[in-house]
Amino acid sequence: MMNNIMGKGIYIHIPFCVQKCIYCDFLSAPAGDDIKEAYTEALIRQIRNTAGKDERRQDITSVFFGGGTPSVMPYGCIASIMGAVREYFNILPDAEITIECNPKTVDEQKLMEYRECGINRISFGLQSADNNELKMLGRIHTYEDFVESYTMARRAGFDNINVDIMSAIPGQNEESLKNTFEKVTALTPEHISVYSLILEEGTYLADNIEKYPAVPDEDEDRKMYHMTKDFLAKCGYGRYEISNYSRKGCECRHNLLYWNRGEYFGFGCSAASLVGNKRYSVIRSLEDYIASDTDVSKLYENVEELSIKDEIEEFMFLGLRKMEGIDVNEFRKRFGMDIESVYENEIRQNIEKGLLVRRGSNLLLTELGIDVCNTVMSDFILTV
Ligand code: SF4
Repeated sequence: MMNNIMGKGIYIHIPFCVQKCIYCDFLSAPAGDDIKEAYTEALIRQIRNTAGKDERRQDITSVFFGGGTPSVMPYGCIASIMGAVREYFNILPDAEITIECNPKTVDEQKLMEYRECGINRISFGLQSADNNELKMLGRIHTYEDFVESYTMARRAGFDNINVDIMSAIPGQNEESLKNTFEKVTALTPEHISVYSLILEEGTYLADNIEKYPAVPDEDEDRKMYHMTKDFLAKCGYGRYEISNYSRKGCECRHNLLYWNRGEYFGFGCSAASLVGNKRYSVIRSLEDYIASDTDVSKLYENVEELSIKDEIEEFMFLGLRKMEGIDVNEFRKRFGMDIESVYENEIRQNIEKGLLVRRGSNLLLTELGIDVCNTVMSDFILTV
């Protein structure tokens, strides 16, 4: 059922944070309010001039403010951006509109602003309920700060909240991760995302790894993954994607749009778009973005026209991340051919190894397949 979500999405990137976390390689940095306000104007200009060309009043089923930390924007900025989005696109009445917020960066006034401009989902970047782990990662908040922001959001009327949690933090063990889950599930958020920390080249953590406690190895990481899945299942959170868990009906529609290869428009520095078979991203330079004029074509780089081969591979990689896998009928509908005519051997061999399974018209990873999903997915890279 989730395979058929085919609305269009909008992603808005806010590249500002209070301070840089030691593991972070996202496009984000601290900035003053004057820069943030100039960025808001540039965003509105991009939205207006994109829509003014050919995207005017397209139906939108999800909007996602990501970052960075969107909640560090000065009062009124997010509402102005949402105003432009509504003016130039047709936001459907039941659209999911999410904003990523970090604990300690929201207050009642901001939360009311978000509610009033139609934002109906908050994603909190908690990462850990262990204050020592938070401090080590360079996060600005404590667990108590998170509880305060979360409670404020509930009071402001948000009934759809995600909490991001991180596993494989240096020095973390199953017990400390479980402790985080115990605390978070007691607050009953609708959605929980759990991603393993990845040591990205060029980050402070990667360059100074010897100064930190050992990072859990692959075996420990897998054990943490299985504990996560079992613990969250007992608390009523279904795993619907490799790293995402939710109460029934609270799956993130915006992320499902990505995994289903729906179309989306990206606004703001580095934001990616997928429109038809074209993928492109916005320039990364904040200075150039703010100085941009009405010619949006100058804002784009990495413009790529996807071949059928690219599209088929993406359909497989992204679709297999979902627990329901890919629908072979959907494959035929999109590409005009049977999946077996492209992947007969790959499917048969992975089924024989116990890594894939057929369920009705769906093809999905088994539990064993999830443990080695990168290997399984590499089998779906087409050589011709
Ligand atoms: S809050 Fe998120 S985006 Fe900002 S520096 Fe930390 S990890 Fe990076």
